[in-house]
Amino acid sequence: MTVATQVVSIARNILRGNHLCKLCLTRQLPNASITSWSEQCDICGGMFSKLDDLTAKITQSLQGYEFDTFLIGATVPASVVEKEDSIRARFKLRGGESLKTALTSQLGRMLQQTLGKRVNYRNPDIAIIISPYTEGVEVIPKSIYVSGRYVKKLRGLPQKRTRCKTCNGQGCEECQHSGYLAVGSVEEALSKRLLKYFGGSNTRFTWIGSEDSNSLVKGNGRPFYAEILSPKVRHLNRSPSSWRRGDTAMMQVELMNDKPEASQVFDMKIEANTIFDKDVSKEIIQTVEEAFRNCVVEMDAMNKPKVLRKHVQNMKFKQVRGKRAILVFESEGGLNVRRLITGEGYTTPNVSSVSKSQVSLDEEKPFDVLGVSLRNR
Ligand SMILES: [Zn+2]
Ligand SMILES: [Zn+2]
Repeated sequence: MTVATQVVSIARNILRGNHLCKLCLTRQLPNASITSWSEQCDICGGMFSKLDDLTAKITQSLQGYEFDTFLIGATVPASVVEKEDSIRARFKLRGGESLKTALTSQLGRMLQQTLGKRVNYRNPDIAIIISPYTEGVEVIPKSIYVSGRYVKKLRGLPQKRTRCKTCNGQGCEECQHSGYLAVGSVEEALSKRLLKYFGGSNTRFTWIGSEDSNSLVKGNGRPFYAEILSPKVRHLNRSPSSWRRGDTAMMQVELMNDKPEASQVFDMKIEANTIFDKDVSKEIIQTVEEAFRNCVVEMDAMNKPKVLRKHVQNMKFKQVRGKRAILVFESEGGLNVRRLITGEGYTTPNVSSVSKSQVSLDEEKPFDVLGVSLRNR
């Protein structure tokens, strides 16, 4: 008996006591030319004859999603896998394709045809998980990342969102499943616009430094990165002009190819509204400007036993009125402006000590960010 006739006789044996559809039979005997099979199927329960319906269902679920590549996965009930295993064991069949693999590769081929999109195993734009026996389709789009800048024109607006206290950020009815309270913040304003444009379920921000809630951010703004989770739209040709309006203006938004680096080195230009405990004399102006023309400020890190060294330069008294003075200077990112002025904590040198007076910030408008520039590494 040749191998081919051997295989045909195995197929005949299997079919004698079992109903197997063409696909389930060929999977077990990949090299046989199968000529007879059953319409019903003890393994897949006839699921392979409904692939057109499944394809249509998946196509419908993908409506409104922008993507170029996809990957399809399936969850198959244990009972189906067990049925297949028992038939394979009884007839000593080895090496055939599993039902799940056969199903996903067949659906993959059909969807490539219908959608005109490519299957990508390593990094698909969208993962589709189907449960063929319950006709469930789950669409999981990969996050996209954008970079941008914001300008803040309203004092009293915090940078970050306030976490929902009911669910501690997990998402609940109260916070409409965002995990945050809608009480107004830069993050909230940026997030709302990004989610409206890209679809998406939520955002995660990476900030390049932070400012006081009573600070303004001027000039070309502060850079930020945002991850948009489960986006529907994956392209951005031109950002809407409405993004540049309002208390928080969002500018220069661009799609990134990849996740941003965790830490970024940057420089900032600051304008601080200070109050001295005596009239600001010519001598004070001279001493302070001289001390911070070009110096390195040492300060202990807030949460770590570590000393930070930050470059501060070009400090100028822009305006002086009695005890009040507007100071302008440049510094490396991560410098704590408040402590540089008041001398709180371990900060040396600081404006208070250099001027031999107690200097505080005008709490109504402590300091504004005039510009932030990213340093190329
Ligand atoms: Zn079958
Ligand atoms: Zn909540």
